[in-house]
Amino acid sequence: MSDLTDFSKLCVHTITTKPWSVEEAMDHYAAAGIGGITVWRQWLEGRDIEKTGQQSRERNLEIVSLCRGGFFPASDQFGLDAAIEDNRLAIREAAALGAPMIVLVCGAVPGQPLEESRKQIADGIAAVLPLAEEHGIKLAIEPLHPMYADDRSAINTMDSANAVCDLLDHPLVGIAADVYHIWWDPDLEAQIRLTGEKNRLFAFHLCDWMTPTTDLLNDRGLMGEGCIDLKGIRAMVEATGFDGFNEVEVFSERWWARDQNEFLDEIKRAYLEHC
Ligand code: ZN
Repeated sequence: MSDLTDFSKLCVHTITTKPWSVEEAMDHYAAAGIGGITVWRQWLEGRDIEKTGQQSRERNLEIVSLCRGGFFPASDQFGLDAAIEDNRLAIREAAALGAPMIVLVCGAVPGQPLEESRKQIADGIAAVLPLAEEHGIKLAIEPLHPMYADDRSAINTMDSANAVCDLLDHPLVGIAADVYHIWWDPDLEAQIRLTGEKNRLFAFHLCDWMTPTTDLLNDRGLMGEGCIDLKGIRAMVEATGFDGFNEVEVFSERWWARDQNEFLDEIKRAYLEHC
């Protein structure tokens, strides 16, 4: 198979094709020759998770990660404890599914100092690390664009994510680099290089930034629709030796309203042309 038609390192997140169940997503991704799937936890509700993992493997579809854990910060002890329990559950789900990694959207509490939230994030990850070790599950901190610093994540740059990794200093703790969140960072190239040098570049997520962005959450672009230098960032990532999946993670009301088979064709085309 030539490089031009090789989708073996392409992964699609189930949320990208939100109208599809996990079974439909697995069937369509596999039929399209796509190599990987990242499963969002909502897609596992009511499922026998081990069986879902088996179904994916039967289709030669590699489970890249489980999305998502995190949301560690809280304003009281009850909330902090509940978050740790939920992350432990996510680790057990990942183990049942056969997912080697969990993506962490780390969380934040509006009005709480970001420094406090960052401390709670590091403490929360430390608290769940023994269970992650037991199951061999990697935890990938995903820095989120600063527009989400109020309530979704107090970790907003690669530098900030690397600081948490340095603090915890554990081979199972690394970073998920999502172009949507980090494309604007003047230190991006140096930070990606450093992350690679420390063997903690765990995942690479693709989409695009729309101008104007009409919804802070659900108006991501398909690759090529926006202004992100996708080829440039991919080159930085691959220069570190990263040979993992290129994961397409598009939350878009526009695309969800379309025929999802046509969308999947568009994803493959955009991946070849723009990434
Ligand atoms: Zn992402």
